Amino acid sequence: MNRTPVPAWLSGQTEALAAAFARGHLPHALLIHEAPGAGGEWLATWTAQLVLCRGPGTAPCGACQGCTRARARQHPDLAWLGLEEDSRQIRIEQVRELAAELALTSHGGGYKVGVITPADALNRFAANALLKTLEEPPARTLLVLVASQPSRLPPTILSRCQRLKVRAPERAQSLAWLREARGEGPWEAALDVLGEAPLMAAAGDPGEVAQVGADARETLEALARGATDPVAQAERWARAELPLRLLCFENWLTERIRRGEGQGAFLTELRAGPYLSAGGTFLNIRELFGLVDEVRDLRATLDVPLNRGLALETLFRRLIPAGRVGGGGHG
Ligand SMILES: [Zn+2]
Repeated sequence: MNRTPVPAWLSGQTEALAAAFARGHLPHALLIHEAPGAGGEWLATWTAQLVLCRGPGTAPCGACQGCTRARARQHPDLAWLGLEEDSRQIRIEQVRELAAELALTSHGGGYKVGVITPADALNRFAANALLKTLEEPPARTLLVLVASQPSRLPPTILSRCQRLKVRAPERAQSLAWLREARGEGPWEAALDVLGEAPLMAAAGDPGEVAQVGADARETLEALARGATDPVAQAERWARAELPLRLLCFENWLTERIRRGEGQGAFLTELRAGPYLSAGGTFLNIRELFGLVDEVRDLRATLDVPLNRGLALETLFRRLIPAGRVGGGGHG
């Protein structure tokens, strides 16, 4: 993945890291605070390559064995810690394994690198275990934590890491990088669905993302007109691409809030009555904010066994204008 060009919005960070490394001032622990999908893991991989590169010239060369193995996450001096399948948490056993790896002598006689992503998924016990490594880091060790919500980490961890911020890029920067890295494609449409998250877009098929996005929007607009059945739609959503659809749902609501704030259209305190025409004000601003929170909660608890269809149906029903029932006749 890191054979790709340096994203323009990350060049300041890569230059600062390269300069610190050249002066021997690289910190033991870095916390990359990223906007979701803006390139935190890309930067973590780049940093691992920086210290593991064995090529001539300016590191990372991207072509030597150190760089290619780091990129493939198969370098013996790189431990990459992420979520295990079906888990939303990083567990203490994983952190202990990482600490044991980092304590071993480097294979290449240089750095040992540990990457933890998403670090905000460390549970409390795992974070405590990590603290020991952060307090007494073995020599020539680099720990890189990637998190989009670092406030979920204990302050004792945060205070021991040097923070590096990765902001969401401008749309034009995202598009330029996606075209250079992946070639032509419906990137604009994919970013409309995903938000300013080019690395997320690059990981998938932009055509499919755009299609799911268009379908989700159509469903939500139809629900808001009272023109479709919430039960059938909830069942359909729960069956496939639910995380992406929920992201669309959240963006759709946020867009409404933004639009409403601009025009004052949703700043009514009363829920619109059935006498108002469809397509007009259907939810007030407070309800919209409440819905955004609930969609986020549902996204965060996707791994928890629950009836997703039912949870979705409850949310969908709240979009339907008062006095209208779903078009499918279940209402
Ligand atoms: Zn190299």
